[in-house]
Amino acid sequence: MNFKTLAIHAGHDPQEHMGAVMPPIYQTSTFAFRDVGQPGPYNYSRSGNPTRAALETCLAQLEGGAAGFAFATGMAAETTLLMMFSPGDHILVQEDHYGGTYRIFSAVFASKQIGAQFINMRDLAQVKSALARGPKAVWVESPSNPVMNLVDIHAVSELAHQHGALVVCDNTFLSPYFQNPLELGADIVLHSTTKYINGHSDVLGGALILKDAALADKIKYLQNALGTGAGPNDSFLILRGVKTLAVRMEEHHRNALEIARWLEKHPAVSQVRHPGLESHPQHELAKRQMRGCGGTFSFRLRGGEAAVKRLLGRCRIFTLAESLGGVESLIEQPCTMTHASVPCEVQERMGVTPDLVRISVGLEDVRDLIADLEQAL
Ligand SMILES: *Cc1c(COP(=O)(O)O)cnc(C)c1O
Repeated sequence: MNFKTLAIHAGHDPQEHMGAVMPPIYQTSTFAFRDVGQPGPYNYSRSGNPTRAALETCLAQLEGGAAGFAFATGMAAETTLLMMFSPGDHILVQEDHYGGTYRIFSAVFASKQIGAQFINMRDLAQVKSALARGPKAVWVESPSNPVMNLVDIHAVSELAHQHGALVVCDNTFLSPYFQNPLELGADIVLHSTTKYINGHSDVLGGALILKDAALADKIKYLQNALGTGAGPNDSFLILRGVKTLAVRMEEHHRNALEIARWLEKHPAVSQVRHPGLESHPQHELAKRQMRGCGGTFSFRLRGGEAAVKRLLGRCRIFTLAESLGGVESLIEQPCTMTHASVPCEVQERMGVTPDLVRISVGLEDVRDLIADLEQAL
């Protein structure tokens, strides 16, 4: 079956649930045994819950993996994945990425002797020489948050596998509708389902999808042992969001690209970072590994920090808020908001400077969105 059909049907058979056309919310902590020593298919909701299982099966099929796991948040998914590693292990991490990912590596797992080496993964020579030091995994985010750099997932996966390292790809920005890292060679896909997959800014969630069944068993064990899994209500909401993912992503893409082209011509704007624009230095790679660009991108203002503050304060439809991927448009300044936990010198290296603005373009009428930016600029 194709993507749109899977998004609506995968993981749920009405005949197994009293004919319910939509997956019921199994709001229960525990499940009755059939008899002494005879548990049913589920025994305790930390270990497994039918509503969560429906979401997990659906996400696994959309990413083309052997199994999927749903977590309370994107960071709970990252935590669970990192607990797979042992003291003394180190992981190669792309140098520009989501602020929370920087924090969990540098402030949480570093003190547990699970180290991170941050490198520029656009430079394959750097990847090669860093792999010689024997990292256990390579952690990719493409496009990266917030400067929209791309990593050649296929090329990096080939190099990593030659050195026996696993490849993790954070696919939050594109969702499985526009990019499938497992097909490109990655072993593990990570999502903050809080963003496009849920799509309505009303729930937090995370997911891991694994190519390999043996690796999936390790994550299943950790999800239960750590208690990081998603609850049934949240799973239901995310599953409802998934059903419209394809139509939403198409519209996010169209709206965002139109705004990016408009901003590129605006005299107050010095640079637009959007992989769908011919001006993006990796536009060819975007065409090769992505089917679309989603709704999030960033741009720089000539007037620097003061101009950014003025723009953010004047927007009426774009809401000043962190996060992305919802039906509503959001605007933010990464260096003081989403990436505030990243030290200044690292921000500088990532390209997260005070003149940078990130927007998440929603599904409003694009003419109203452009008018809003125009009056604010
Ligand atoms: C939001 C986000 C996360 C973290 O997810 P939460 O659901 O907020 O815990 C991880 N990676 C990326 C790229 C994100 O945008």
